Amino acid sequence: MDLSLLKALSEADAIASNEQEVRDILLQQARHYDKEVQFDGLGSTLIRLNQANGPKIMICAHMDEVGFMVRSISREGAIDVIPIGNVRMTARTLQPVRITTRGGKKIAGLLDGDSNKGEISNLRVDIGAVSGEEVEQAGINPGDYVTFNTPFSEQPNGRVMGKAFDDRLGCWHLLELLRELHNVELDAEVWLAATSSEEVGLRGGQTATRLLNPDIAIVLDTACWAKNFDYSPANHRQIGKGPMMVMYDKTMIPSPRLTQFVEQVAEENAIALQRDMFSNGGTDGGSVHLSGYGVPTVVLGPPTRHGHCAASIADENDLKHTHQLLVALVKKLTRSNVDRLKDFSR
Ligand SMILES: [Zn+2]
Repeated sequence: MDLSLLKALSEADAIASNEQEVRDILLQQARHYDKEVQFDGLGSTLIRLNQANGPKIMICAHMDEVGFMVRSISREGAIDVIPIGNVRMTARTLQPVRITTRGGKKIAGLLDGDSNKGEISNLRVDIGAVSGEEVEQAGINPGDYVTFNTPFSEQPNGRVMGKAFDDRLGCWHLLELLRELHNVELDAEVWLAATSSEEVGLRGGQTATRLLNPDIAIVLDTACWAKNFDYSPANHRQIGKGPMMVMYDKTMIPSPRLTQFVEQVAEENAIALQRDMFSNGGTDGGSVHLSGYGVPTVVLGPPTRHGHCAASIADENDLKHTHQLLVALVKKLTRSNVDRLKDFSR
């Protein structure tokens, strides 16, 4: 499996609205395959996979990762930061991070904060500076963004580890679809939408959907289970057990017609599915499905271990099976199947 684009996507740094590094990778691939690209006003990047007269399908994944933003610089040389997105509490102390300056320079530092009853506050990054002037001389300014400083690695037993798998795995799947289907004739018109600012409130998913007005949407995202080594049936996010399909979260419950359609396509292709539920949080699906008069939407993706922290772990077989499922779904989303999925008269 060629994982070079996944490595590039994982090691690219992008918090909400500051997503150019990820966008550049997507744009480079769109150019490579000579595909039309559109943007919404937030920077979501929409690649048109093909021309067709059939139903319009949007497949989306968010570009942003959870991270931090520089708030202020102290006289002593501490760089105060605020979390952007829901960074796990335990991932807020003693973490290697890197600052991306407005000039694009990367500066490594160590994130730390004050711990009080499990809450971590007063977050600051130490780059070794002993005065505010030294921080400024390094080119760091309020508004610069901060991400975890984690290299991508291939692990034993077909696993991969890296930062920002939420949701660069989804972005990678968009590029895998582009690679595999770039010259395949399809009944549906397919758009690959890399959305902005999901981690701060499902924002780009909303605006991208309004721009495209699709008949059906597939949202790609990932999730991890609280107990990483729990292999009981309660854990629907086990790595190596196949892609997850979200049956419920607080922002969306998919139509059973659509989830049953996905189940049927998975079964036809001998792909195991994990039926997942989010007890808290949501995905872009929450805003996507409410666009216009409502868009039938399903949320899929490979499971991960660890999330919203310095690194996640995923299984290459889950990536392969998620890709196979997406290819099969796209081929099956014909006009008659989509009409059936949207016909509530029977
Ligand atoms: Zn996500």
